[in-house]
Amino acid sequence: MGVPNEQGCIFCSIVRKDSPAALVHEDQETLAFLDLFPLTRGHLLVVPRRHVDRLTDLPEGEYPGLLRAVSAVCRKVERLSTHYNVSMNQGALAGQIVFHLHVHVIPRYEGDNAFGRRPRERLSETEAAALLKELG
Ligand code: AMP
Ligand code: ZN
Repeated sequence: MGVPNEQGCIFCSIVRKDSPAALVHEDQETLAFLDLFPLTRGHLLVVPRRHVDRLTDLPEGEYPGLLRAVSAVCRKVERLSTHYNVSMNQGALAGQIVFHLHVHVIPRYEGDNAFGRRPRERLSETEAAALLKELG
């Protein structure tokens, strides 16, 4: 689905370290960082370094690496909350905005209204620094 388009891709730019991100995990195949407009406190994204639009474009050989990274990130998120959503939006109608495959890990808290309709505030640098400490 779709032609790989690394040019102008914000997540490719983060992978290349051309754009800033609060990194929580990095390995040969993946990167994970704090979502800039978090649905809840500690909302994270796990991305393959390879630019693909969606899961079905990722070479199968890279499935294990991605899942391993998701699991490592979940383990970190469990320091914030043992309740969390792990999800992927595939296609615009499903809410995909960034067309570089990413897995959301969204910690859940009592009464958080994570998926309710409300403006999403940009993550502050202070909050990002605090979260990076807590996530370890
Ligand atoms: P999706 O709707 O599944 O495509 O999710 C894209 C996510 O990327 C959203 O939750 C955005 O808040 C997040 N996002 C967009 N730009 C950045 C960025 N530069 N750094 C971190 N997260 C971002
Ligand atoms: Zn990309």
